[in-house]
Amino acid sequence: MIHFLLTTYSEAIQHMKDCNQCGKCCLKYGDGALSATAAEIDMWELFEPHIYQYVKGNDIWFDPDTGVQLTRCPFLEVEPGQGKEKYTCAIYLSRPEDCRHYPGHIAEMIRDECEMIEVIDLEDFDKAQSKLDDLMEDSRPRRR
Ligand code: SF4
Ligand code: SF4
Repeated sequence: MIHFLLTTYSEAIQHMKDCNQCGKCCLKYGDGALSATAAEIDMWELFEPHIYQYVKGNDIWFDPDTGVQLTRCPFLEVEPGQGKEKYTCAIYLSRPEDCRHYPGHIAEMIRDECEMIEVIDLEDFDKAQSKLDDLMEDSRPRRR
């Protein structure tokens, strides 16, 4: 999900740009479509109770008072921008694997209208996937 990656690859910039924090992915998946690993939940329980309070059983994100599934991730913050809002993650370094691994595939980026992708990426999916994997190398394993 929201990545603040900087790249020095001029070729990557031509084909796929860094995450611009449009927030579409967090808004789409933050309403119950995300999961966390058991290890992540254990670590939150031990060291980050402000995150753990939104866990219910093995699932995320629930209202700590009512136990009701939230319709929006409680850690998604928005900064007003000129013409366009910019979204940030309040638990960026501790965000779940689901978030760290997004975006994983070109197809899901197209489906989700992820703004990292450029029109030229649609011409060669394999090349675009390779560029995406380069951009994501600090967040997740390479695909395929
Ligand atoms: S935990 Fe962070 S990256 Fe994941 S949905 Fe919430 S705001 Fe987005
Ligand atoms: S949809 Fe794409 S560009 Fe927008 S915040 Fe998510 S990863 Fe970044």
